[in-house]
Parts: sequence; structure tokens; C-alpha cells
Amino acid sequence: MKLVVLGGGESGIGAALLGKKLGYEVFLSDKGDLSENYREILVKQGLQFEEGQHTEERIFAADLVVKSPGIPETVPMIVRLREQGIEVISEIEFAGRHTAAKFVCITGSNGKTTTTLLVHHIFTHAGVDVGLAGNVGKSLAAQVAEEAYPLYVVELSSFQLDGMFHFRADIGILTNITPDHLDRYGHKFENYIDSKFRILNNMGPEDLFIYGEDSEAVRQKLSALKVVPEMAGFTYEEKEQNKTVGAWMEGEMIVACFGGREFRINRNEVSIKGRHNVYNAMAAILACMRWGLGPDAIASGLRTFPQVEHRLETVRIKDGVTYVNDSKATNVDSAWYALDSMTTPVVWIAGGTDKGNDYSVLFELVRRKVKVLICMGLDNKKLVSSFSPFCKVVDTDNLSDAISAARKYAVSGDTVLLSPCCASFDLFKNYENRGELFKEAVRKL
Ligand code: ADP
Repeated sequence: MKLVVLGGGESGIGAALLGKKLGYEVFLSDKGDLSENYREILVKQGLQFEEGQHTEERIFAADLVVKSPGIPETVPMIVRLREQGIEVISEIEFAGRHTAAKFVCITGSNGKTTTTLLVHHIFTHAGVDVGLAGNVGKSLAAQVAEEAYPLYVVELSSFQLDGMFHFRADIGILTNITPDHLDRYGHKFENYIDSKFRILNNMGPEDLFIYGEDSEAVRQKLSALKVVPEMAGFTYEEKEQNKTVGAWMEGEMIVACFGGREFRINRNEVSIKGRHNVYNAMAAILACMRWGLGPDAIASGLRTFPQVEHRLETVRIKDGVTYVNDSKATNVDSAWYALDSMTTPVVWIAGGTDKGNDYSVLFELVRRKVKVLICMGLDNKKLVSSFSPFCKVVDTDNLSDAISAARKYAVSGDTVLLSPCCASFDLFKNYENRGELFKEAVRKL
């Protein structure tokens, strides 16, 4: 049997390794350059591969194709493969076919990585033998090939879900849905929503679906669906009458109920702050309750969870000014939650590649909390015109000038918040690179 792997990133290399272990004749093809370490793995394992091109003859000879989530469904080669009846799946689907492990899967527009890491942290802190996979860390396929955990916590992007057909989550979490990546979904929000809801595919009555009730798109879609698994919603609101399953607020307390048990924790005891992290904590708590973890184990995990890099990460306090790196806030919704969580006046650094953003949802928060907006991008026109009525706006086109300006305007007690609400590609390699350079510069102040 011939396996072709398209794309030689983390998931592609994992799929190739698993393919080899299963006895497939493997060929990996990447149109770009492979990174040094991945090339080395392929050579060492004696796997056949090419880079800088796709040799169609070899690709169309495949019995099965595993496609990187970075390759859109609509590119002509994928369309033709499907037309010819060649199965094209994602790495998670491939790995899921070759393990009997259980899965806690997390998807949503925002909060995936944080929730995934939090669930994984609470489990490992409680002594559960659990792997971490998907968009974070090592690919699921490589782990299935090499380590084989009995349980995995898996972060799933919509692109990964698009290539999943028979995969089944034992616990599925949908954090929220707001418009994102619409360029990959024919500019139709509905298509993106459908993609996220693929997490429900194949889930049975014995499985649990945990979802963000405050997300309008999630609520609307659910009202039109027949959902098979058990459901547990979480909300920032107080408890509704008759509600016995799910999570909600009672003043400062987060309350979660599942299987006739109740769990309570003061939100201030949870190590990660902000309303969005209350949501992420609620989702994680419900998953852990479903798994049968006791209240002490869950509470202890929530208290000890370390901060996640590039997500509202406190870098340092200098001259009374707190510098926060939220470089991962690449869309308007995540920047909304970052601003919402601020308890001091804010000098806000934002900007980058605009993804068709509608900034109006931020106006009220900016008016109340932001002293100065420092734009950092090659083209700041839209930011400047959108926010000028609400705060002072400064225009810069590089990190160093942005930080100098922030320093000039911030006084003791303020927070300098990098929460760009845009992609990073105009000035940086990616959001990690943007966050790292920001931290480096802040540490040098
Ligand atoms: P994802 O993996 O879905 O991109 P992350 O956990 O990496 O999500 O968080 C991305 C950004 O979104 C962070 O900057 C954070 O401030 C914000 N965020 C985190 N959780 C949520 C949530 N539940 N709802 C809205 N925004 C969130």
C-alpha cells in the first residue's frame, strides 16, 4: 500500500513515521523547503521524500494521502485527487485509525491552546498517563507510532477537522466561534461554523460535548442540530433555573455540575486571569469531572497551571509599568478579551496584517481603558481612523519605535499590552517571533 504525505511539517513527519511502522510504502512531498531537523529524521528513517516540488506521477499513485492542514481543500491537486477517488485525510484521522486510545478534543476560534494545555496539566498533575497532541507539541501520529498513550488531549483546528471523517472524540470541547480564516471557507461564516461542528461527527450517546453557551454562533447552530452525545454548556452568566449540568458563575465563584456532583472554585484561585480564562477553566473542569477526577485534583491543577507563552503573558514590571505579551491575539475577539481583562489604564500596541477586521466591537472598551493606542504595522490607516475618536493614537512601523512610544506614554500603574488583533506577517515571521522580539526588547528596557 502506498501512502503519500503532503507537507513536511510536524504532522507530515509524524504521519510518515506512523506509515512506515504500519508497513506502508511512504513518499513525502513538500512544495517548500523542509526544516533541517525534519529532513534529518526522514533520511535517518530511510523514508523517501522530495522538497521544492510535487511530482504528480508519484502522488497520484497513492492508495492513501495524508494532507497537511496548511494545504487548502480547494487547491487543484487536492480536488483532482478526490475526483479520482483517492482518499485524502488529515494526520489526526490517520493516527486515530491506528490507536485504541481515548481522546479529549478541543476546538473553537479562540482558547484552543490554553484549554488544551490546561486539561493536559490538570490530568498530569493528578497522575493520569496522558499525551498532548494536535496543534501543540508533537504530532499525534508520531506519538501513536512511538509512545502510545492510553489517552490524548488534542487541539484541533478547523483545517484539521476538515480532513477528519471517522475520528471520534470521547470528550469534545467547542470553546466558541467567531469569524476567522474566512479566506479558506469561501468567505462564508456558515462554512467555517460547519467545519468547527465536525468535532461532533461520530460522537455517541456515551460521549460528552462541552460547549461555550455564550457564543451566539454556537448557540444558533446547536438549536438547529440533533446532537447525539451528552451536552454540558458553560456560561459567564448566573445559573438558569432547572440547570443541573454545565458550568456558570455565582458571584466570584465558578460552579460546575456534572454526573450529580458539584465543583466550586473562586475565580481568583485559578492561575490564569480574565473572563476568557474563566471560560477555558470551565471547559477544562467539565472534561476533568467527566473523566472522574476528584475536586482536590481539579482545584490543585487550576491553581498551578503555568502561564502560556504569548497569551496574556506578563513579561516584567519596570518602573511600575506592567508589560504584557499577548502576541497570539491575532483576531478582534481575542483582543477584546485581553482588553476586557485589564484592570489598569492601558497603553495598547496593536496592528499588523488586517484580516478584514471589524473594530467596532472594541470601541467601548478602548474608550474606557486605553490611554494611547500605538499602531505597529506597515499600513496603519484603518487602525488610526477607527480608533482616533476614542483615544490618542500613535503611528509606528517597527517594534523598536512602538516600544519607545509605549515607554514615553506609560506611567507607574499602567499596563503596556501587546495584543495586536492582526496577523504578524507584515513585520514578523509569525506571532511567536513577534512575541519573542517584544519580550526581548522589554527585558532590555
Ligand atoms: P487558540 O489556540 O484558539 O488560538 P489560545 O489559547 O492560543 O487560542 O489564545 C489565543 C488568544 O485568544 C489569546 O491571546 C487570548 O488572549 C485569547 N483567548 C484565549 N482564550 C479565549 C477564549 N476562551 N475566548 C476568547 N479569547 C480567548
